[in-house]
Amino acid sequence: MRQKITIAIDGFSSTGKSTIAKLLAKKYNYIYVDTGAMYRAVALFAKKKHFIGKDFFDVEKLIDSLDAISLQFRFNEKLGFAEMFLNDENVENEIRTLEISQLVSKVAAISEVRKKLVAEQQAMGKNGGIVMDGRDIGTVVFPYAELKIFMTASADKRALRRHKELVEKGDAVTYEEILHNVKERDRIDTTREDSPLIKADDAIEFDNSDLGIQEQFERICGLIDERIN
Ligand code: C5P
Repeated sequence: MRQKITIAIDGFSSTGKSTIAKLLAKKYNYIYVDTGAMYRAVALFAKKKHFIGKDFFDVEKLIDSLDAISLQFRFNEKLGFAEMFLNDENVENEIRTLEISQLVSKVAAISEVRKKLVAEQQAMGKNGGIVMDGRDIGTVVFPYAELKIFMTASADKRALRRHKELVEKGDAVTYEEILHNVKERDRIDTTREDSPLIKADDAIEFDNSDLGIQEQFERICGLIDERIN
């Protein structure tokens, strides 16, 4: 029987990690977990409770309320992927806004938040057969993953992609705002003390500034097949 492995995909924001991860999960019949959605849901919770805003953040209040946050992925057959539920409410659309993107990295820098989410992620992946994407999957969540991918692309290419996505959804955002957000999240994510975004020593790097989805997908499938056959 083919072995079910753990696939960790890390990298900068808007590098297409989730697009590739979803394709891989479908092809290999693995579970896909978008850990960014979990951090985004915690940021949304903090925003709704008025613990965080543009220029304030009551970290202690958020830490004290962590037990009141329940996160769940529920598979949507029609969409073909799992949507994020925060305390039983579907927040899949609300967590994808620029406003949440502007708050999430500050929330994700808090060790108590990371501790809670990492434990949940490790529980989801305990039996293998999982594709998980994020910033610390190959370094912290699954340091023994059989395959680790690290994705990069230039900030302007990433901002262009994210801008297109949001505009197609009907959000009135400018390219400049998105570029600023992408760079700011890179800065916070790579310089935070707890689990900064770095490439694991044994991760395979893909710079997809000029590499299409299909080509990346095929190359990664080759790497998976080498490991499971
Ligand atoms: O992947 P996505 O862009 O949705 O992630 C949103 C934010 O969540 C990241 O910019 C980062 O601050 C945080 N994050 C993290 N660790 C992860 C996944 C996401 O710190 N494993």
